Amino acid sequence: MHDLAQRSKGVVDRASLYRTVHLFEQLGLVQRIYIGWKYKIELSDIFTHHHHHISCLGCGKVVAMTEEAEIEQLISQLAARHGFTAQSHQLEVRGYCPLCSQR
Ligand SMILES: [Zn+2]
Ligand SMILES: [Zn+2]
Repeated sequence: MHDLAQRSKGVVDRASLYRTVHLFEQLGLVQRIYIGWKYKIELSDIFTHHHHHISCLGCGKVVAMTEEAEIEQLISQLAARHGFTAQSHQLEVRGYCPLCSQR
């Protein structure tokens, strides 16, 4: 979001930028990925293959997990157990990357 604000400097004002992002979010075009207390805006699953992220608490590195058929299945099953048909979900894993684990 900070990047976006920097990039749009002189093109649109901050308020319009936030309004537009909010609108896109409501339309389901983008989604907010929370990393701790910060978040980043990413194109929604409509455009990108659905995936989850692991983020490092040490250096902030974010890795996309793409191999997750089992998680998807499990989430559907859990939702079904509560009588729900799962439409969407968010799952973020936080931890330490190999580099930060060594420190
Ligand atoms: Zn790290
Ligand atoms: Zn998923």
